[in-house]
Amino acid sequence: MRPVDAQPAPATSSVAIDGHTRYAASIAAFERASASLAGGVSSNFRAGGDPVPLFFDHASGSHVVDIDGNSYVDYVLGMGPGILGHAPPAVVRAVQAQVPEGQLFAGQTLAEVELAERFTSAIACAERVRFGSSGTEMVQLALRLARADTGREVIAKFEGHYHGWLDPVLASVAPPLDEAGPADAPVPHLPSRGQVASSVEQVLILPWNDAAALRRAFTGPLRDRIAALIMEPILCNTGVVPPSPGFLETARELTAAHGTLLIYDEVITGFRVAYGGAQSLTGVIPDLAVFAKAMGSGYPIAAIAGDARLMALTGQGVLHGGTYNTNASSVAAANATLATLAADDGAAYRRIEDMGSRLMDGLRRVAHDKGVDLLIQGLPAAFNTTFGTSSYVDYRSYIATDRDRQRRFLRALQDRGVRVTARGTWFLSAAHDETDIDASIRAAGDALVAIA
Ligand code: PMP
Repeated sequence: MRPVDAQPAPATSSVAIDGHTRYAASIAAFERASASLAGGVSSNFRAGGDPVPLFFDHASGSHVVDIDGNSYVDYVLGMGPGILGHAPPAVVRAVQAQVPEGQLFAGQTLAEVELAERFTSAIACAERVRFGSSGTEMVQLALRLARADTGREVIAKFEGHYHGWLDPVLASVAPPLDEAGPADAPVPHLPSRGQVASSVEQVLILPWNDAAALRRAFTGPLRDRIAALIMEPILCNTGVVPPSPGFLETARELTAAHGTLLIYDEVITGFRVAYGGAQSLTGVIPDLAVFAKAMGSGYPIAAIAGDARLMALTGQGVLHGGTYNTNASSVAAANATLATLAADDGAAYRRIEDMGSRLMDGLRRVAHDKGVDLLIQGLPAAFNTTFGTSSYVDYRSYIATDRDRQRRFLRALQDRGVRVTARGTWFLSAAHDETDIDASIRAAGDALVAIA
């Protein structure tokens, strides 16, 4: 581990690229890792790197450096958590101060109450909060609360939305079309071997942004059997697709009318698209919401928030546990992150908005100049780049885009010192500055030429 550079090297925009030279250390490390780590990685979502899953040495601010010494302007940010950039000083200081004071007490701390109070003042649906260590497990608690409260079993979710990797909800995230059923009435698709087919017997799959299909779900045979409707209120796991006008309102009305709980999975949107999450942008308030990623700057911490009556079920027979819940360093990181995000009346968000808009505009400009049909869709804090389409509104229209060109574009960006998620989503942070953005736009222009 080398010390973090005070001044990370700027992104290079024109390099002769020989993958085997540029990524030699990662290629060797991947070979070595594959003999001890299953598949050479610690999450299946990290297995798809090009030419291999890359290995990283250190990161600071907007930059991450791989073990070959290549420096990248980073728009992956740990898959979203790095809202303040890597190793933000306020968070590092808070964690360093906490570490010698102990990590786990199997009891409460005042710091976690402070964190809960930050939630109840920031998040519209948050009368009460519980903390855990990952988005996946907080979704599990949300479903459990919904089933306990309603006495029903069916969970409705949308095609292309991801809510963690556990059996009861890992369905139809990226289904092959020939196994996905009709567009307006999708059938559940299990993405993992070893999943129990019976776990999705209680899952109803709906097409995103299709109000008519949603209404049919609440007039059809399951109408009074649906415990919860869960969604990413802005669909970030498939191309960044906002809800169409009126769609969330329809979902809110139908769920309320049928005694179904509305759950927002704000694991990505929470504290990213706004301090109050997607619910503060849309004004449509769910019964329960789940948070992770940006709340903790990369330290393992997650939350579920909801109204007091529902959350009280945790004291009335609904089990939620976790040895690592509110471990002291994660709580310190989260308090420091949220304090920084809230400071100066949300200056961090204004900066993200400015830098993200500058980047989106610049990418549109270079694509236009080069006559390339690059589509930039989403928000300054999280947007997606695709080819071969003028719009997409749901999973099926998204996967009809030219994903081969997208893949080649992303590799060409990586080769030029710009790191974007493998699905083409760019996450911004308050650490990105004009120099990063302008270097990224230049790199994108070069990348578009290289893949033409
Ligand atoms: N929900 C959403 C919307 C997510 O994006 C993710 C992770 N990418 C999860 C849930 C699962 O969170 P975790 O990886 O922390 O378990």
